Amino acid sequence: MQSSVISTSFQEEADRQENMLRPKMLKDFQGQQRLKDNLAVFVKAARERKEPLDHTFLIGPPGLGKTTLATIIANEMESEIRMTSAPALDKPKDLAGILTNVTEGSVFFIDEIHRLKPALEEMLYIAMEDFEIDWVIGQGPAARTMRIPLPKFTLVGATTKAGSVSSPLSSRFGITCHIDFYTEEELSSIISRSAKIMNVAIDEEAVMLLAKCSRGTPRIANRLLRRLRDFATVMADGNVTPKVVAFGMDRLGIDSNGLETQDRNILRTIIEFYDGGPVGAETLSISVGEAIESLEDFYEPYLIQKGYLKRTPRGRMTTKKAYELLGLPCKRNMDDNQGILF
Ligand code: ADP
Repeated sequence: MQSSVISTSFQEEADRQENMLRPKMLKDFQGQQRLKDNLAVFVKAARERKEPLDHTFLIGPPGLGKTTLATIIANEMESEIRMTSAPALDKPKDLAGILTNVTEGSVFFIDEIHRLKPALEEMLYIAMEDFEIDWVIGQGPAARTMRIPLPKFTLVGATTKAGSVSSPLSSRFGITCHIDFYTEEELSSIISRSAKIMNVAIDEEAVMLLAKCSRGTPRIANRLLRRLRDFATVMADGNVTPKVVAFGMDRLGIDSNGLETQDRNILRTIIEFYDGGPVGAETLSISVGEAIESLEDFYEPYLIQKGYLKRTPRGRMTTKKAYELLGLPCKRNMDDNQGILF
C-alpha cells in the first residue's frame, strides 16, 4: 500500500516536471516542420468551417511528442481535452462513460491505442464514424440495443506500434501524423527552450553536445538536462558546460552517439550469443533482461535508425557498424544492405 502511494507521488512529480516543459501551441513545438505546417492548415480549415478537427492518428516512438501534440490540437482548436490510455479502459462501460461525457468539438485522446480491447475497438468504430454508440440494455431474451447519440468530437489516437493497429481502426482516422526522431539542431532548440524555462545556465557548445546524446528524443533531452543541472549544482558552479556534459554522460553510461549501457548490451548479446543474429525478439528480451515492449518500442527503433540493428523476417541482426562500435572482430562476411551473406 505504502509503496503504491510513494510510486504514485513519484509519478506525479515526473508528470509535473514533464508538463512544465510541454509546449502549449504549435508555434512552440520545435521541429517536425512538415507535420506542423500540415496540422496548422487542417486546424485553421476546421475552425473556419466551425467543425471539429478530423480524427487524428499520431504515430512514433515514445517521448517524441504525441501527448504534447494532442494537447496542442485541443489548445489550437480552443476546445477541451479528455485523456486516457487504452490499457486503462477495461470494459465497454469505461469507454462508453467517457464518450457520453465528451463535449461538442472536444478532443478525446487515447494513448497506446494499439492496446485497445476488440470489444472497445468496435464501439469506437461507430463512435468515430457516426458519433453514436450501441448500448445493450438488459440480459438474455429481454436484451435490447439502444443507439446513443454522441457530441461531435475529435479522437486523437497515439501509438508506438502502427503495425499493431487494425486497419478498420486506422482507416477511420482522417489525419495521420508520423513523428520522426528529431535532428540534433531540432533537439538543440528544444534543450535551449527547456533550459530557459528551468532557469538553467547552459552554453551553446554544451547544448549541441547534449543534443547528440539525446537519441533524437525530446523527453530524453529534457531528462538529461535535469540530471546535468544536478551535476552542475553539486560538482561545478551551477553552469552546464561541455565539461559538465561529458562528465555527466560518462557517469550515466551514455556515449557520444546517445547509446546507453543497455543498447550496447543488446548489440553485444546478439553478437556474442547469437553470432550476429538472426534472433527472435522474445529470446533476445529474455537474454538481455528487458521487457519485450521496451525492447521493441524504446531500444530497437533508435538502434535501427542509427544503422546498428536490422529487423528481418527471421529476427534481429546486428550490422557491421555494431561490430565496429563495440570493437569486436566480425568473423562473418557482412554486407550493410543484405546483412550476413554466409
Ligand atoms: P509521447 O507522448 O510521444 O511519449 P510527450 O508528448 O509526452 O511524448 O513528450 C515528452 C516530452 O518531450 C514533453 O515533456 C515535451 O515537453 C517534450 N517535447 C516533445 N516534443 C517536443 C517538441 N516538438 N518541442 C518541444 N518539446 C517537446
